[in-house]
Amino acid sequence: MTLSLKNKIIALATIILILTGCNYKKEKKIIETIPDLNIIKEIPKDYKVSLFAVGDALIHDAVYKDAKTDQVDKDGYNIYDFKPMLEYIKPLAQSHDLSFYNQETIIGGKKLGLSNYPMFNSPDEIGINMLESGFNIVNLATNHTMDKGVEGATYSAKFWENQDAYVTGSYTSEEKRNNIEIKEKNGIKYAVLGYTYGTNGIPIKKGYEYLVNVWSVYGANSYEEYKETVKQDIERVRDKVDILIVSMHWGNEYTHIPTWYQKDAAQFLSEQGVDIIIGTHPHVIQPIEYINNTLVVYSLGNFISAQDDENTRVGMMISLDINKHVENEETTITIDNVKADLTWTYHQRYRNFKVIPFYQLNNQLLNNYEQTYEKYKKIINPSNDERIQIGF
Ligand SMILES: [Zn+2]
Repeated sequence: MTLSLKNKIIALATIILILTGCNYKKEKKIIETIPDLNIIKEIPKDYKVSLFAVGDALIHDAVYKDAKTDQVDKDGYNIYDFKPMLEYIKPLAQSHDLSFYNQETIIGGKKLGLSNYPMFNSPDEIGINMLESGFNIVNLATNHTMDKGVEGATYSAKFWENQDAYVTGSYTSEEKRNNIEIKEKNGIKYAVLGYTYGTNGIPIKKGYEYLVNVWSVYGANSYEEYKETVKQDIERVRDKVDILIVSMHWGNEYTHIPTWYQKDAAQFLSEQGVDIIIGTHPHVIQPIEYINNTLVVYSLGNFISAQDDENTRVGMMISLDINKHVENEETTITIDNVKADLTWTYHQRYRNFKVIPFYQLNNQLLNNYEQTYEKYKKIINPSNDERIQIGF
């Protein structure tokens, strides 16, 4: 014989009443909570957040020169406008709840002088225009974070702290770095961690380690030692959030094949319970795969740059849904509707830069664009995982 839910609750309440004695106030309180218990147990709740991501904003001088306007700000510095470059991507970034990109080159302040490879410094407007175009999660841990030293990285960290965005990988203090931010969207709590393999050999001054999160591959034991730091960072937030994303700036440049280090780090992050790994840095796209329940995007490639080779002008964008189902006090998180598609960095002899999804290209914008699409499409899902769809 089985008891109905109502009878079970009455029985439970009786037991609690006996255990709590005869205090009148307590009795009243327990009785009042019974109808609420009934409601909570019978209605499951569903929450959804959509996520969009693109790769490196690698702002060569050709890109910022194209964005330069005749207007000057109050300090006499030129104002830049990247918005026309982002017009095709804006509706995609804006139509998702969360939109990620990697700010490869530092926003170090115009006072230090804007600069090109190998020690970049990009204008504030690239960050501002990306946010205006719908992006709201930004990775700052890259091999270029220290290009303009402590001064540039500090300007960058402060600049980003004042923006309405989730910023990861570079902070204004050790305290901020260790107090990993937790945000909530549509009833789903999330956190994003960000690490770079290194800083192009530029040493980080002692006491300023919070300016860039490093997970180095160099040195006899350093890779394994850094794992311990990453593990501790994850432990700080894992149980407090529904979804944990890690941005990894890693891998070898110009190769479509992930390295041993990328594979090993992804495996390690998966074992620590990370839900989504977003990889950047190689300048070209690399595959997407699942390691157990962890979605691993090894490299999104360049989002925008003035690099010339075909494979550096093809970038990847991803879109997915994070679903949260709550029933009988049990929460289930699933990642659904995972889609990947390709973009092209278009320009006319380094003027009129635009990032354009392949599905909006034609032979005037890129000759034989369909063949190029077919060629790079093959890289995305080599394991033919049915959970990963190609095409938006
Ligand atoms: Zn990089």
